[in-house]
Amino acid sequence: MTMALLRFERVGKSYRRGGGETVPGVRDIDLEVRDREAVGIFGPSGAGKSTLARLAIGFERPDRGRVRFRHRDLAELGAEELWSLRRSIQIVWQDPAVYLSPYQSAVSSVAEPLEVFRIGSREERVRRAHDLMDLVELPPSARDRRPYELSGGQCQRVAIARALAPGPRLLVCDEALASLDLPQQVRMVELLARLRDELALSLLFISHDRAVARALCDRLCRMCEGRIEAAGGDDDGERGGCSAPA
Ligand code: ADP
Repeated sequence: MTMALLRFERVGKSYRRGGGETVPGVRDIDLEVRDREAVGIFGPSGAGKSTLARLAIGFERPDRGRVRFRHRDLAELGAEELWSLRRSIQIVWQDPAVYLSPYQSAVSSVAEPLEVFRIGSREERVRRAHDLMDLVELPPSARDRRPYELSGGQCQRVAIARALAPGPRLLVCDEALASLDLPQQVRMVELLARLRDELALSLLFISHDRAVARALCDRLCRMCEGRIEAAGGDDDGERGGCSAPA
């Protein structure tokens, strides 16, 4: 039995809207992502998937329950431990054009986390960034381009290389393929499957599209109205009366 890398224990998180109304983001989440495992979360818009992603990387704290990484409660980590956690869990968001700087070349976007985490000398960082870009199958001609000079798929590869730079154990993908067309999504699923294998990564793969999550993951969980409704077997997510929230 492999070790639990990430574990949600009865996690709840709600938001307060104007007028004092409380909106549940996620409710009563029990979830485990084991070492080298790929877990897919799918469900309609508003189901709580992004809230789950933000809780997994420690961007948000639960109101109830615990999120643990390697048995440690994220809410109890000191500044230094949080810093090293940031290396171990990385995230890829939906739209790389929004979070890759328009002023930065691809290679400097990929090298930047290495600088932030003080990994290697300047020369080593550039060399490592080139290796990472080869790993995600970006051609050398893409290295000095800025996001607006790259295709959507190439931008997302830059974002993946950047996320891999600090050497994470867990990669969270929050709708990471949603802005790509179908052939690009297929290629990206192949890439993520290969990276997972070669780098012994765990994946928490979030998608509104069950088919995409299914193509990549060992296990699927369906989310609806903040809860995980079904998990496990092959027909997961096909049962249960989940209607899209208004
Ligand atoms: P999904 O990613 O599945 O579309 P989200 O996690 O974005 O779902 O949202 C779940 C619920 O939490 C929704 O009702 C949404 O409106 C609410 N929500 C999420 N983030 C916030 C926030 N920062 N402030 C207020 N409400 C939020």
